[in-house]
This record gives sequence, C-alpha cells and structure tokens, in this order.
Amino acid sequence: MKVLVAVKRVVDYNVKVRVKADNSGVDLANVKMSMNPFCEIAVEEAVRLKEKGVASEIVVVTVGPATAQEQLRTALALGADRAVLVESAEELTSLAVAKLLKAVVDKEQPQLVILGKQAIDSDNNQTGQMLAALTGYAQGTFASKVELAGDKVNVTREIDGGLQTVALNLPAIVTTDLRLNEPRYASLPNIMKAKKKPLETVTPDALGVSTASTNKTLKVEAPAARSAGIKVKSVAELVEKLKNEAKVI
Ligand code: AMP
Repeated sequence: MKVLVAVKRVVDYNVKVRVKADNSGVDLANVKMSMNPFCEIAVEEAVRLKEKGVASEIVVVTVGPATAQEQLRTALALGADRAVLVESAEELTSLAVAKLLKAVVDKEQPQLVILGKQAIDSDNNQTGQMLAALTGYAQGTFASKVELAGDKVNVTREIDGGLQTVALNLPAIVTTDLRLNEPRYASLPNIMKAKKKPLETVTPDALGVSTASTNKTLKVEAPAARSAGIKVKSVAELVEKLKNEAKVI
C-alpha cells in the first residue's frame, strides 16, 4: 500500500515570531524553519505502518519554496522513500495547496493520504478537509489512532465530547492530532542516507493547477501586549475587585 504524506515548512515552534515593520506579514529573515509538528506526526505514522508491513512505499510531498527541500530531506531521514517538491515561492491559500495536492494524488494514486490537522503558522485546519472534498475520498480528521483493516481504515478521532471511531473505505485521508504518536528523531546515518533518496521537483504549471488567489491579506498585526496580572490576598478582595474594578459581577 502506498502512503502519501503532506508536510509543510513553517517557522519553528520555539521561535517568537515578529511582524514585519510594514505590517505586510511575518518576518522570516534569519528565522529557524522546521517541519510543522503535526506533519512530523503524519510522517511517523506512515513510517510505523511501513515497519508493520502495512505500507510498502511512503511518498512525502510539500508545496513551497526551493528551501522546503530541507523538510523533505528530514522526512526522508525519518523513513520516507521518496519526495516531491511542488515548487512555488508564492504565499498560497489552503485551497490552492489542496488543488496541488489533489494533482499529486491523481498522479501517485496512494491508498492513504496523511496530513497534519493544522499548520502552526496559519492555523487554518482546512487543507486535509479540502483535499477530501476535491478527491471525493473519505476523511478521518484529528486522528488519535489509525488501524488498517483490509480495504478499510478505522480512525479514532478526538472530538469535543470524547473519542469517535469511524471506519473509512480506502483510499482515504487522515489528519493527525497530537496524541496519535510521538515522532522519533532522525539518526545521523539516516540523515546521510536521505541525501541519496529521490527528490523530484515539479511546478504548479506542470501539474496544470492555477494557484491564483481570491484572498488578499490587508494587514498582519502582533497580538496586543498583555498587562501584568496581580495576586489578591483573599476571596473577599477578589470579589471586591471583580465588582468594582473589572465590573464583571
Ligand atoms: P492547514 O490546513 O494549513 O492548517 O494545514 C493542515 C495540513 O495540511 C498540514 O499539517 C500539512 O499536512 C498540509 N499542508 C498545508 N500546507 C501545506 C503545504 N504548503 N505543503 C504540503 N502540505 C501542506
């Protein structure tokens, strides 16, 4: 079974992001970039399926600038077999990314597509759902457990009220939640081996996909600075402040 994993290059989660002086976006100059954490979980799940003998090939794909090859090499070092870079330096909408991924799905014909539930830069949480709509494949989002059973995949989903398990016919799309697994680190020998694994570059034009956007970012602003909190000495003082200062009770 072929598994396709979509990974995104994002600002590393440890970086404190800065907004550009002209409010046109986030300043990416000299900022550490990494694989989106939910995509690391997606790669790990695919590698575990291969280790169990369920998956036969793992193809990892990203849509992004030439530098996104770094994240593809990381995925190859973690156990993916080959990589596809859909090269675009533009800032793309989720729909454009989903259309590009659909073109890759059409070409690769995977039985399972794994994405992160959300990219930590834009927090969109929609690419997997859009890809499911475009391909017509079944979707299991926010997965905390994935079990292949014949021509079905059972996905346990984290929902507000608890856990829901759905049985999806293959081919299917799964998006990963935090508790699905704990990703491994790439070993040095595997990082070296990954340099020799195949990495193909394609363009949106070659895939026949228009990435024209209907969205325009008007302004990007940092969140308002929070004022420091205070400690109250008693419940009575708290109630007094809530009543007379905050005027919320
Ligand atoms: P989002 O809908 O942007 O929050 O992203 C959810 C998931 O979609 C990510 O975790 C990735 O698996 C996938 N994804 C989003 N953008 C890209 C991209 N540019 N290239 C590859 N995969 C992406």
